[in-house]
Amino acid sequence: MKSSLMKKLLKILWLVVLPILSSQAIAQAAPKGLDIYFIDVEGGAATLIVTPAGHSLLIDTGFPGERDAGRIARVAVEVAGLKQIDHCVITHWHRDHVGGVPTLAKLIPIKNYYDHGLPPTLAADMQAEFIDAYKQTTGGGSVTLKPGDEIKLPRAPKNSPMLMVRVVAAGGMVVGEQSSAPQIRPCGENFESKAEDASDNANSIGILLTFGSFRFFNGGDLTWNIEDRLACPKNIIGAVDVFQVNHHGVDSSNNPSLVRAIKPQVAIIDNGPKKGAESHTFATLKNNPELQAIYQLHRNLRTTDKENTMAGYIANEEESCQGNFIKLAIEPNSRSYTVSIPAKQISRRFRTR
Ligand SMILES: [Zn+2]
Repeated sequence: MKSSLMKKLLKILWLVVLPILSSQAIAQAAPKGLDIYFIDVEGGAATLIVTPAGHSLLIDTGFPGERDAGRIARVAVEVAGLKQIDHCVITHWHRDHVGGVPTLAKLIPIKNYYDHGLPPTLAADMQAEFIDAYKQTTGGGSVTLKPGDEIKLPRAPKNSPMLMVRVVAAGGMVVGEQSSAPQIRPCGENFESKAEDASDNANSIGILLTFGSFRFFNGGDLTWNIEDRLACPKNIIGAVDVFQVNHHGVDSSNNPSLVRAIKPQVAIIDNGPKKGAESHTFATLKNNPELQAIYQLHRNLRTTDKENTMAGYIANEEESCQGNFIKLAIEPNSRSYTVSIPAKQISRRFRTR
C-alpha cells in the first residue's frame, strides 16, 4: 500500500512537478534582447530603451501634463516591468521633449538626467516654465552631453553583444568639429542648404545606439544643415538598421544627404495626427533603395493614403486614440529584430545587416 502510494507520488513528481521546475529554470536562464518602445505622445517624442540587463534609457518625455507622462509611465512599469528610469536624455528644450519631466518624475523615479546644456539666456523659442520645472526636478544635477560622449550602460549578462550609446551631435556640433564651425558648410556634389536654423532644434542631441550588429539612430529634432554635417565630408553615423525619423518627419529636417548616408532599413516616425510625416520626408525615405518599411505612430490626417504608410504600419488611426505604442525587440544575438504594434497584434521580423 505504502510503496504504491510512493510510486504514484514519484510519478507525479516526474510527470508534473519536474517539467514545471525545469521550464522555469530555462525561462530564467534564457538570454534577453534589447527592447525599444516608441511611445505615442501625439507628435512629441518619447523613446524608451531597455537593455538585456534591465537598465533603461528614456530619450525625451513628450508634452507637459498628465497624458504623456502617464503613457510613458504605463509602458515603463506595466509593459517593460521597470521600477525606475536609470537615464533620461532631453534632446533639446522644446516643450514636446522636455515637457513631461516633472509629472513623469512623480510617477516613476528617474535617476540621471542629460541635456545639451542649460541655456544661459532664454531664446525666443524656449519657454521658461518648462526649463524651470526641469531644473527644479533635476535639482540642477543634469549632465551636459557633448559630441563624442557615451552613456555607459552595463553590458550584463555575459556573452551578450556589445552595447554602446554614443552622442554624435549636441549643441549644434557634430563629432570631430570645433565650436567655431558654421552651421552651413557646403560639402559634396549634391549640397543643398536651407536658411540657418536659429531654433533649439539645431542643438538637439543625436544618439547612435549599437547592440552587436544592430544600429539605431535617434536625432531628436535635428535640422537640415546639421544633418548634412553628419553625412559630409565624413559619414559619421554609417548605415543603421532603424532610424527614428528626425523632428517627427517635418520637411525642414530629414535632408536626403543624411538619409542616403545612414541607409535605414526601417524608419519610425513619431508624428501626431496633424504634425509631421510631411511629404518631402516621406519621398526621401521611399527613395532609399534599402528601406523595407516605414512605421508611423499616427495616421497623418492632413493628407491622403498615398502619403501615409500602409494601414498595418500605423499605430494610431484616429485623432482621439488609445495611444498605442510601437515596439522594437532586438534578438539576444542581435542578428534580427521584430517591429510590432502590440495593440494591433501586428509584427514583422527584419534581419540586421
Ligand atoms: Zn519636437
